[in-house]
Amino acid sequence: MTSTAIVRFRRDLRLHDNPTLVAASEADRLLPVFVVDPRRVGEREYGGPDSFRYQRLGGHRARFLRESLGDLRDRLRGHGSDLLVRRGHPEDVLPELASEVGADAVHEQTLPTTEERQTGAAVGDALAAEDVARRTHWTHTLHHPDDLPVQPTVIDDTFTPFRRRVEAESEVREPVGVPDLPPLPDDAPDAGELPDPLGSAPEQSADERGVLPLHGGETRALERVEEYVWTGDHLREYRETRNGLVGADYSAKFSPWLAAGCLSPRFVADEVDRYEAERVANDSTYWLLFELRWRDFFQFQFLKHGGQQFRREGIRNRTDIDWRWDERVFQRWAAGETGVPFVDAAMRELAATGYTSNRARQNAASLLANDLRLDWRRGAAHFETLLVDYDPASNYGNWAYIAGVGNDSRDRAFDVLSQGERYDPDAGFVARWCPELADLAAVDPGYTREPWTAPSGALVDAGVELGVDYPRPIPALGDRYDAMS
Ligand SMILES: Cc1cc2nc3c(=O)[nH]c(=O)nc-3n(C[C@H](O)[C@H](O)[C@H](O)COP(=O)(O)OP(=O)(O)OC[C@H]3O[C@@H](n4cnc5c(N)ncnc54)[C@H](O)[C@@H]3O)c2cc1C
Repeated sequence: MTSTAIVRFRRDLRLHDNPTLVAASEADRLLPVFVVDPRRVGEREYGGPDSFRYQRLGGHRARFLRESLGDLRDRLRGHGSDLLVRRGHPEDVLPELASEVGADAVHEQTLPTTEERQTGAAVGDALAAEDVARRTHWTHTLHHPDDLPVQPTVIDDTFTPFRRRVEAESEVREPVGVPDLPPLPDDAPDAGELPDPLGSAPEQSADERGVLPLHGGETRALERVEEYVWTGDHLREYRETRNGLVGADYSAKFSPWLAAGCLSPRFVADEVDRYEAERVANDSTYWLLFELRWRDFFQFQFLKHGGQQFRREGIRNRTDIDWRWDERVFQRWAAGETGVPFVDAAMRELAATGYTSNRARQNAASLLANDLRLDWRRGAAHFETLLVDYDPASNYGNWAYIAGVGNDSRDRAFDVLSQGERYDPDAGFVARWCPELADLAAVDPGYTREPWTAPSGALVDAGVELGVDYPRPIPALGDRYDAMS
């Protein structure tokens, strides 16, 4: 008897190293499907006493996702298959399709975060009612959870001991090859148009001041790995450059493709191994894998702690923090109008491009959560809307960590002014995104980063009137940020 399977793509929009696709391809007929779930691309409300609403899928990531789906469809077509795209709840769409094409199994990626798990469970129940099997595959981390030294549910809550044990006791599995894809079922429904836009926000292209044009899709992901690792030979100095703020190559910029699953972390690790064998093995080559283990760490933490990770008190149940709320202050932070140029540059870059560096994210998050003490989840939700590389575990995990409610008991507050001085010594980053302050750098880059310290003559010469051309720091930040106020 002919067997028919459905492969549902989620955050694994690729053909390379995709064990879900490999397993599904054992069937005689295969229908590849992507379901646009309106619950994930529209508005969401955070309940409770401090409830708020926000747009989940912003314009940059919507564009990136559509590009990724278009590329996946092209690649599947290149292998004699196709990608069916449907809008609806996966637990409704998948059983309907299974019955339409007579599928006996649906293969899909399994993910660690609460909503994704809930949807997965609902899909499983709905399929079971139709006597269709749901087969799940864990495919988005460097280390497979079955290969961890201990079950993910009991891993250490602190990164360093987790990493040490994983490095010593767990191997990264070999990537799997692209399978021969079975033909589509004879009665396969029409593939359907890619929704445009995918969510409710209009798609957005990035401002040309961005670090790199970030276009979705496996094709572009593999090109980026080739460019960064091999053609540009940047991997050899990754550890020294990774805290940069401006330009394409201070860090790998793999995150958007990793988040959408256009790129497999095991493929990246394989390339690092090859680079170490053919060019150089040094601290930098090790450090890229170190960072991918940070990514793994957050994924497994969400498996361990579930919904607790999204609570304001976090996994450490910090009920002692006096979170405040001031909508106007939040809006100034979000708009890059706090009056602290290093943070404003980060927030403006994020809004204009969907990306900002790790260093900039840390400082912007710390100012909101630690200096202003505004509910960190609101900041995390704002990042969720904007980030082209948004990943629930990496985003909420990093936010909680910085806000002091997550995976580290030490104080993670950043001294934003000294961070600016250290990482943006020539104020090039600030000048790029706060051009109204650029001319002050000719006198002293410190004046661009902290314009309230500039003598009035320098301000006049640079054509800057504080409070008019560029805001004075938010008063809640205190005197340190504005000696003149
Ligand atoms: C407040 C905040 C929110 C963040 N939100 C996200 C998010 O939604 N999605 C996301 O992928 N990263 C997030 N990060 C982590 C990090 O900032 C980005 O992964 C990194 O800036 C992406 O650029 P890159 O690919 O050039 O990184 P590189 O420095 O080249 O690192 C290589 C890869 O390692 C992983 N990585 C590096 N640092 C981290 C980290 N701290 N946590 C998890 N993975 C890491 C990423 O997959 C990255 O692509 C966040 C960090 C902070 C401080």
